Amino acid sequence: MVSGRRLLPALAPALAGGVAAAALAVAPEARDTVQPWLAAIVLGAAAVALVLALALRRSRGLWVVLALALAFDAARRWSLRPSDVGLDAFAWAATALALPLLLAVLVLGRDRPLPSGGGLGCGVLVAAAPLLGGFIWLSYQERIIAAIVHEQTIELAGIPLRLPVAAWVAIGAASLVVLVRLLQRRTAFEGSVLGALGLASAGLAGGPGSGWLPMLLALAAVVVLVGMARSAFELAFLDPLTGLPGRRALEEDLRGLDGQFVAAMVDIDHFKVVNDTHGHEVGDQVLRMVAGKLALVGGGGRAYRYGGEEFTLLFPGRTLGEAKPHVEAVREAIAASPFVLRGENRPRRKPSKVPAGKPQPTLTVTVSGGVAHSRGGEPDATLKAADAALYRAKQRGRNRVET
Ligand code: GH3
Ligand code: MG
Ligand code: MG
Repeated sequence: MVSGRRLLPALAPALAGGVAAAALAVAPEARDTVQPWLAAIVLGAAAVALVLALALRRSRGLWVVLALALAFDAARRWSLRPSDVGLDAFAWAATALALPLLLAVLVLGRDRPLPSGGGLGCGVLVAAAPLLGGFIWLSYQERIIAAIVHEQTIELAGIPLRLPVAAWVAIGAASLVVLVRLLQRRTAFEGSVLGALGLASAGLAGGPGSGWLPMLLALAAVVVLVGMARSAFELAFLDPLTGLPGRRALEEDLRGLDGQFVAAMVDIDHFKVVNDTHGHEVGDQVLRMVAGKLALVGGGGRAYRYGGEEFTLLFPGRTLGEAKPHVEAVREAIAASPFVLRGENRPRRKPSKVPAGKPQPTLTVTVSGGVAHSRGGEPDATLKAADAALYRAKQRGRNRVET
C-alpha cells in the first residue's frame, strides 16, 4: 500500500530501544539507577498511552502497553517471591506463551477507536489473559502445566536462551506476523511492536526470576509509546497514498525556512487521461511511482505531495541555478521509466524476472515543472510564481521545466 514509505523511520523507536537495552547491559550503574523507577515508568507509560489512545481515536497501542504492563506486574511478583517455585515457572511460561500471541493479535487487527466495541474487545482480551492463566493454574495444575513449562534452551553467541518449547513457537509465529504487517503498513507502531516483542523475548529467555525481565518490559512499554506518538505524527504529516510528506508538512516546513530557497511545482501530464483510460487504481499506482522518483531528488531537495497529482519540491538555501538541474533530472528520470501495465494483479514490487511471452504493455508518464526562487520570507508568493511557471510549461508542450 505504501511502497514509497521507507522502513527505517518506522523502525527508529525499536532501534532506539535496542540501543537503550545494550546501554543498560554494559552499565551496571545505569541499571541500579532505573531499577527503583521501573514501576513508575510502566504506570506512566500506561497513563500516557491511554491519553494518546483517546486523543488519536486509536486503541491498539494502549492494549499493547497494557499487555506489557501486565507481564511486567507478573514478572515483578515472581521475581519478588522466588520461593513458590511451581507458580514461578508457570507464570513465566504462561507469560512467554501469551504475550507474543497477544501482540500478534493486536497487530493483526484494525486500529479501532477506543470507545467502540472492537476497540474495547481487544482490551478485554488482554485483561482476561492473566485471569485465564490463574484459572489454568488453579484447575489443571499438574496435567497441563507440565506440558506448558517443558523447556528448550538454545545457545546464541554463547548466551543460553531458555524458554518453554511452546513459547519458542509463539515468539517465532508472532515475530513473523508482526514483520509481515510492518512490511505491509510501514508505520512506526508496527515497528515499535516488533521492538517490544524482541525486548520482551530477550527478557523472558533469561528464565524465570531473571532480574532483566522487568527492566526490558518497561523499556518495551516506552518503545511502544514512542511508536504510538510517531504514528500520530505520520498520520498528520504523511500522505497515505504516496508516503511523501503532505500539504501540512509543506506548510510547516515553509514557515520554518529562513533565507533563500527554491520551490518547484510538479504536475503529472494528462493524468486525467490515465485515470479515464486505465482506471483510478492504475492512476494511484502512477502517483506512487512518480512520488518514488521525486523522493530521490538530489541537490538537497525535499518532495511533498501538494494535492491530487501535484507535487512540490523545496530546496532550502539554494539558488535557481543550483536547484533547477535537479528538477530537470527527476523530470527526465520519470519520462525515461516506462510504467508497466501488469494488469489487474500488478505486483507491488517489480518482478526480478520479466515473465516470458508477449511484451508487457507500457505507459509513458511525464511531468511538467515550474521553478521559482525566493530570497526568503515570501513562501506563498514563491509557490504562486512556481505555479505560474508550471502553467507556462504546460502551455509550451508539457514534459518540461520552466522558471
Ligand atoms: P495536465 O497535463 O494539464 O495537468 O492535465 P491533467 O489531466 O493531468 O490535469 P487535470 O487537472 O485535468 O486532471 C487531474 C486529474 O487527477 C483529475 C483527478 O481525477 C486526478 N486525481 C487527483 N487526485 C488523484 C488521486 O489521488 N488518485 C487518482 N487516481 N487520480 C487523482
Ligand atoms: Mg493538476
Ligand atoms: Mg496534471
